[in-house]
Amino acid sequence: MRAMILDRAGKGLRQGDCPAPRVSAGQLLIHVSACAVCRTDLHVIDGELSQSKLPLIPGHEIVGEVAALGEGVTRFEVGDRVGVPWLGWTCGDCPYCRNGQENLCDQAKFTGYTLDGGYAEYTVADQRFCFPIPDLYSDAEAAPLLCAGLIGYRSLIKAGNSKRLGIYGFGAAAHIVAQIAKYQRREIYAFVRPGDEAAKKFAMNLGAVWAGGSNELPPAQLDAAIIFAPAGELVPQALKAVGKGGTVVCGGIHMSDIPSFPYAILWEERSICSVANLTRRDGEEFMALAPKVPVRTQVETFPLEEANDALNRLRIGKLQGAAVLIMKP
Ligand SMILES: [Zn+2]
Ligand SMILES: [Zn+2]
Repeated sequence: MRAMILDRAGKGLRQGDCPAPRVSAGQLLIHVSACAVCRTDLHVIDGELSQSKLPLIPGHEIVGEVAALGEGVTRFEVGDRVGVPWLGWTCGDCPYCRNGQENLCDQAKFTGYTLDGGYAEYTVADQRFCFPIPDLYSDAEAAPLLCAGLIGYRSLIKAGNSKRLGIYGFGAAAHIVAQIAKYQRREIYAFVRPGDEAAKKFAMNLGAVWAGGSNELPPAQLDAAIIFAPAGELVPQALKAVGKGGTVVCGGIHMSDIPSFPYAILWEERSICSVANLTRRDGEEFMALAPKVPVRTQVETFPLEEANDALNRLRIGKLQGAAVLIMKP
């Protein structure tokens, strides 16, 4: 099969041919049709996340068709359309798994990081961690739901019942979260790279009530803010933007160091928290909610072989919405 392969961090991806994976008990063999590109892929490829298997096929926002079933598979049939997210396997037995926090499982395995992912024509996945895809979406439109959507949704839950919600970094996750937040009658305040007028316009078109630079303060105090951009200096910025009791949610898996800041901007019961991974429950809730909103995803598609280009566009902020790799030649 054709695949894009990471041999060593910092070297980009190599276009290669390799044998299709073999399906084990409990797994699905999936003929991949689309795989979205996530900022986490960049962190893996650049070596900022250093636990990756090597060589690795990245990609954890996979949509495809079940091509074969491993022994004991009961949830899906050959021909079903399925999605594969970041969380690929958990032990089911550690204190976190037993406590409904499988996202924190000590032994969790992750798609496109410690397991091969979807930058390829075929992949295998544990059936228990795959989701059916709502009919509303094409394969390419559905792909960003699998991480940008799911992690965005988990971040939104962490933001509590906030009415005035700030979002820092208006990329793939933000464009999905904004639609859900608007559906929930929240007000969105969008923070983009200073001077990025196109991103401001993108945010306003998605229903933000205000869009400004990430170095600006919003016109009203926020109840909560979610930071999707991997920039630690945004944490004190966001703390200044939220009112008493407000929460700042860090939605990314990696962030540059957070600079020191005066205690006064944390005081009055403001809090900072992070979001790690997802649970299957998040996935089920989100996949039920998305078509009701309905969440529409804006995607830019690239042939599989142009994965490095898509990743670069993400790195320099030259995408609106989500990049999606398409497998068909
Ligand atoms: Zn566990
Ligand atoms: Zn992701």
